[in-house]
Amino acid sequence: MPAPDGKGREPTPLEKNRALAQWLEFQLRQVRGRIRDLEAQEHQGHGLRKPGAEEPDGRGRREAELTPRPRTPDWGISEAGTGSAVKVHRGDCWAAGKELRAISRERALAELADGVPACEVCRPDRPLMA
Ligand SMILES: [Zn+2]
Repeated sequence: MPAPDGKGREPTPLEKNRALAQWLEFQLRQVRGRIRDLEAQEHQGHGLRKPGAEEPDGRGRREAELTPRPRTPDWGISEAGTGSAVKVHRGDCWAAGKELRAISRERALAELADGVPACEVCRPDRPLMA
């Protein structure tokens, strides 16, 4: 009976590549951990983050989650060219077009109080006046 691990036998290409993949994954984890530590140092010089406190298993998916998305403003005002009506919108209103400028809730309320009409599509006055 030959030994199950086949002493003296050449590893098959599959075995070699599995071992290589394991090694590369180990290296990748090391590098990712280093990157996280360095990023934490760079973003918040106070070192709030404990290095290696958490090692998520979902490798590969992390990058997408870490990429910050531009925040949708809560409110906006459309400032179209001369002659077009200026309106107050919700920040994500599809009807506002490219001209939407992000404004604060206070500013939106002030604009409405000043007589700037609320967009009839997204009706920002409803939550604002509520
Ligand atoms: Zn709107």
